[in-house]
Amino acid sequence: MNLPQMFGENVFNDAVQKETLPSEVYKLLRATIESGKPLDVSIAGTVASAMKKWAVSKGATHYTHWFQPLTGLTAEKHDSFIEPEGDKVIMRLTGKSLIVGESDASSFPSGGSRATYMARGYTAWDPTSPAFVKEGTLYIPTVFVSYTGETLDKKSPLLRSMTAIDKQAKRLLKLFGKTCKKVSTTVGPEQEYFLIDGEVYKQRKDLRLCGRTLFGAPAPRGQELEDHYFGMLKPRIVDYMHDLDEELWSYGILSKTKHNEVAPAQHEMAPVFGTTNVAVDHNMLTMEIMKKVARKHGLACLLHEKPFRGINGSGKHNNWSMSTDDGFNLLNPGDAPEKNTFFKLMLAAVIKAVDDYQGILRASVASAGNDHRLGANEAPPAIISVYLGDQLGKLVDTIVKGVDYIPVKAEKGSIGVPESPIFPKDATDRNRTSPFAFTGNKFEFRMLGSQANVADANIVLNTIVADAFEQFADELEGKDNLEKAANAIVARELKAHRRIIFNEDGYGPEWEPEAMRRGLLNNKNTADAVPVCFEEKNIDVFVRQGVYTREEAIARADIQLENYTKIINIEALTMLEMVRRDIIPAVSDYVAELCANVAAKQAVCEEIPCSGEKEVIMQLASLNDQTTALANKLEGLLGEVDMSKVREASQAMAHKIIPVMEEMRSKVDKMETLTSSDYWPYPSYYELLYSVN
Ligand code: ADP
Ligand code: MG
Repeated sequence: MNLPQMFGENVFNDAVQKETLPSEVYKLLRATIESGKPLDVSIAGTVASAMKKWAVSKGATHYTHWFQPLTGLTAEKHDSFIEPEGDKVIMRLTGKSLIVGESDASSFPSGGSRATYMARGYTAWDPTSPAFVKEGTLYIPTVFVSYTGETLDKKSPLLRSMTAIDKQAKRLLKLFGKTCKKVSTTVGPEQEYFLIDGEVYKQRKDLRLCGRTLFGAPAPRGQELEDHYFGMLKPRIVDYMHDLDEELWSYGILSKTKHNEVAPAQHEMAPVFGTTNVAVDHNMLTMEIMKKVARKHGLACLLHEKPFRGINGSGKHNNWSMSTDDGFNLLNPGDAPEKNTFFKLMLAAVIKAVDDYQGILRASVASAGNDHRLGANEAPPAIISVYLGDQLGKLVDTIVKGVDYIPVKAEKGSIGVPESPIFPKDATDRNRTSPFAFTGNKFEFRMLGSQANVADANIVLNTIVADAFEQFADELEGKDNLEKAANAIVARELKAHRRIIFNEDGYGPEWEPEAMRRGLLNNKNTADAVPVCFEEKNIDVFVRQGVYTREEAIARADIQLENYTKIINIEALTMLEMVRRDIIPAVSDYVAELCANVAAKQAVCEEIPCSGEKEVIMQLASLNDQTTALANKLEGLLGEVDMSKVREASQAMAHKIIPVMEEMRSKVDKMETLTSSDYWPYPSYYELLYSVN
């Protein structure tokens, strides 16, 4: 394989555009992509025909407008290129079909923001994310809006939030004498996932219907030996990762790092970062390809945040920064951050934004799946805080106290072996327990769930930082002594928001009470985390930055609660199905066999001991009855939930339904440990976690 040659071979990228488009058209298209100039519609026809010709040469027969509806997945509707001509066909893609598509929007969630009679939805080309050919279809990345202009997807608000940052960051840059065409936010999402054997996967209804196990007693061996992390890759996994990389590279996805994660069967892929909207598209594609390649290898790829209880879950680290079109990273502290006023202003803006809007930032990562991680001792807690590391932490302290800063010398590390090179120690050591950590020249937001669309978190991040930038720019423009005024803002904001900074262990027991004292939010589940989105202040920031209208902001939050409610409902129904149709009958059969054995023994001779069997019979029969009663209770409670009232329904799910599901699970898991494996209807955790060799 010639990697440089095959890299991006399925993408209509810059190089292909340059080669296939007339140079005038190429220049106009690049102007839109690189500096955000509105698209010159007159070039659409030419671009479309070049794109089609290229796609057909790659074997494509169809094209699709590819978009990201609020369901959390991607959606596509395929049209073929054919157009009749006499009794033959020609292959055609017109400028109009490249730019807009029409799609029935009535079956996509809209949070009540669009009446069904106006169910027309439009997809519109996003020229800043390159089109690609996959399985015989040309994929055109698009946004999805309604007939009346409301956004129905995750892409359009993401692009709007990027525009907001661009606008406000350029004002600040200009004050500091730096000009540029465009400021983009950049993202590098690290993706965690599990791989298990495909045959074992198929035998678990819960994995197939819900993506996670709803029952399962712990395996005798979990992750306690910590021998999986960065451990040697098994041959089947090596083959998988090799194929995965090749596919990802062919779509121009910069898959860079791969390794085993903490839990058995868990792995990670980290790409090189890119412009946010492209990074989002790439991550959506990555998740899809991960699943597809797994099927090809007889494996199942689990992207759920918590496939197995008692075993680490999966997240996505959202590495985030901002940079100008000429490559200047706005979060680069330089050698002497204490003298770098511009950087300090950036830092103060992010800290202010994260503190002021911690509620919506937390809500942006809330989902039924992620509720199993946040707050449990593996992922960052449900409390948002910012980690700065030693050097910056100290700098902020001195600014807040108004004293002089004595630079922390970057220590030179040595491993004590003379032949080994001396390495400079990272100024920010790695605090893995912080939900929002400064790591050198970017912030790493670590609360995202593994199956999330990273657009959600980035929409909020971009919007709130743009808002802080705007306030700073309003204050600073026209000031005579810029340095002085900027430093005053930095000091004021750091003082006001220092409560959000926490440089210690976020998993420690002291942090939660300490965070409460500081007045930080600690919403542990989706039902409780999302309602902050209905608060005026949290709606206003989106409206001010032109990211959502008031109605859109409210509709989004309602949809999030609706998704949550539906997921819990499906999980509860799946539990009922498994318990009533598989587990209770299996246990009953096993108890019957034990009873028959006891009776047989007694018939031969009353002296034959059988107290062991009797004890198991008593325990299992009783647990089975309790499980039946809990199933009835769960069904009754589910019947009382009015699914049409999402806000109340989500509360009922979190506070009434889930506790009963928990109780039922504990009974079932106990029964699993007492029932013969010949009778237990599902593969055990041991079989699931150690299914791949
Ligand atoms: P790790 O945290 O795993 O040790 P790195 O810190 O090198 O690794 O990078 C983690 C991720 O951060 C990678 O996906 C990388 O591309 C991304 N990243 C690096 N710089 C930036 C940046 N300026 N903006 C966004 N993401 C970045
Ligand atoms: Mg990381």
